[in-house]
Amino acid sequence: MTFAVHGLPVARGIAIGRAVLVVSSRIDVAHYFIKPEEVETEIDRVRIARNAVAEELQKLQASVALMGPNDAPHELAALLEVHLMLLQDEVLTSGVKHWIVERLYNAEWALTTQLEVVARQFDEMEDEYLRERKADLEQVVERLLHRMKGTAAVLAPTPPRRKRTAEDDESDPTARDAIDAPLVLIAHDLSPADMLQFKKSVFAGFVTDVGGRTSHTAIVARSMDIPAVVGARSASQLVRQDDWVIIDGDAGVVIVDPSPIILADYGFKQRQGDLERGRLARLRHKPAVTLDGQKVDLLANIEMPEDTLNAVKAGAVGVGLFRSEFLFMGREAQRLTRLPDEEEQYQAYRRAIEGMQGMPVTIRTIDVGADKPLDGRAVRDDEAHLNPALGLRAIRWSLADPAMFLTQIRAILRAAAHGEILMLIPMLAHASEIRQTLALIDFARAELDNRGVVHGKVKLGAMIEVPAAALTLKIFLKHFDFLSIGTNDLIQYTLAIDRADESVAHLYDPAHPAVLRLVAETIAECQRQGKGVSVCGEMAGDVAFTRLLLGMGLRSFSMHPSQILAVKQEVLRADTSKLDAWTQQVLEADDPAALLAPAAAPQ
Ligand code: PEP
Ligand code: MG
Repeated sequence: MTFAVHGLPVARGIAIGRAVLVVSSRIDVAHYFIKPEEVETEIDRVRIARNAVAEELQKLQASVALMGPNDAPHELAALLEVHLMLLQDEVLTSGVKHWIVERLYNAEWALTTQLEVVARQFDEMEDEYLRERKADLEQVVERLLHRMKGTAAVLAPTPPRRKRTAEDDESDPTARDAIDAPLVLIAHDLSPADMLQFKKSVFAGFVTDVGGRTSHTAIVARSMDIPAVVGARSASQLVRQDDWVIIDGDAGVVIVDPSPIILADYGFKQRQGDLERGRLARLRHKPAVTLDGQKVDLLANIEMPEDTLNAVKAGAVGVGLFRSEFLFMGREAQRLTRLPDEEEQYQAYRRAIEGMQGMPVTIRTIDVGADKPLDGRAVRDDEAHLNPALGLRAIRWSLADPAMFLTQIRAILRAAAHGEILMLIPMLAHASEIRQTLALIDFARAELDNRGVVHGKVKLGAMIEVPAAALTLKIFLKHFDFLSIGTNDLIQYTLAIDRADESVAHLYDPAHPAVLRLVAETIAECQRQGKGVSVCGEMAGDVAFTRLLLGMGLRSFSMHPSQILAVKQEVLRADTSKLDAWTQQVLEADDPAALLAPAAAPQ
């Protein structure tokens, strides 16, 4: 039966495919695709873990048998028996094998997927006793996952498809469909590190239950340029593995089990979208100049050095934001050292410079914390009552761990010997933080000099992401060569809206008069002082704001490569000489959004 789930649109377009459910378990598991030749090894990992857990449970049973009824109640022995039965259960075993062989999921992913399938069957049971066995099954799977920790294969960045065989077509007429259909990802939540792994895969779209429009998971989705919906509340409960799903990334709607008529309708919309992209692609080599001759720099936001490929393809004239923290995340799943050392970072920054073929690269120093955990879960259990967005994050984190920060600064300075690098510091708010940061940069430079290591000069920039910074620009402009406005956080902190929390997403408003005023005043102050300024938050890639930002005087926009051509089209159609009065009106309005509508903006 067809039904729809509503969420927040975060990445444009239509995706149609089969659902792949990624289940979150209490243990943080890696999700990645294995190579076909690794199937046996992966099945073996599950078998070895199962034998070890069985042995563990049998030992427990033996020790329980030796205890008296006061120390070990009868229920405990019965419970262990149930756990052993569940462990050996054919549905669990064969299901896990199915996901590994047919879908090339890594063992942990296969286990949690099958857990979800079986757990739903438990949920539907009439008998309360049986229904409650779901918790036992979860415990058994967690034991297995614990056992498998540390035995994971190195992450395989290869696509997941299994080759179709002749038998598939003969034995099951729908097999062809199931195997060849695009896959869409449905999850309760995905960490940015998880997203990074999926970036290397073949998903045509994704949906999460939680998350706001500018949560980091949404940001990575946008950078992947695939349709996505976040904050879809119960999608991961309602959609089943392999269901047909349409993701409408423009409207923020997920349609499950669509009828043929709906499918045809969305198929048409999808083709229209492809045509529009084709039209935009013609603008790639056109310089971004307004009708009145104002040159505008359209730069790229990237997460990994390899993203420079798409940045160049999209016609970016540099990188305006390299979110370097992505080099630090999800390392456990890749069997890498906990943090990248100086050499590893240096090589990564150098690859980014080479990727940009002589164009400038802005490297933002590490910004972990909040919804970007280094590894594992976003919030530790003992921190669940805290709001990590207000905690040890970004520059605060770096200053709390100077050895780590110095390692990164040295790597950036060394990479600067190979091309134009700008170093950008996130989330500064205090003069004391500025002083400490600058002192550490000087110290790192002196260390390299003492070691006789070649390094280069960098321009230094600060992100304006906290209202306190936007209100004390003079201090910032005294010390920095340029500023970059991080509107994602500036909105979060100005409006006191957790950007990752879908329950307050309706209040997250880039067009709020307070936000617009802070952005406009930052741009104006930089202009007065002849300092460079850009916007690198999501606002820069949103065509609804292009004219307004141009009207405020902005000439440098940094965004996901996938957004560059659409913004360029807006730039090419704009005449900045006609924007002044309207911009002023927007800045003074109680409800600026009404004036931002295309019909209200000057043509
Ligand atoms: C921002 O806050 O606008 C920004 C660009 O940084 P991030 O999204 O990585 O926090
Ligand atoms: Mg930010």
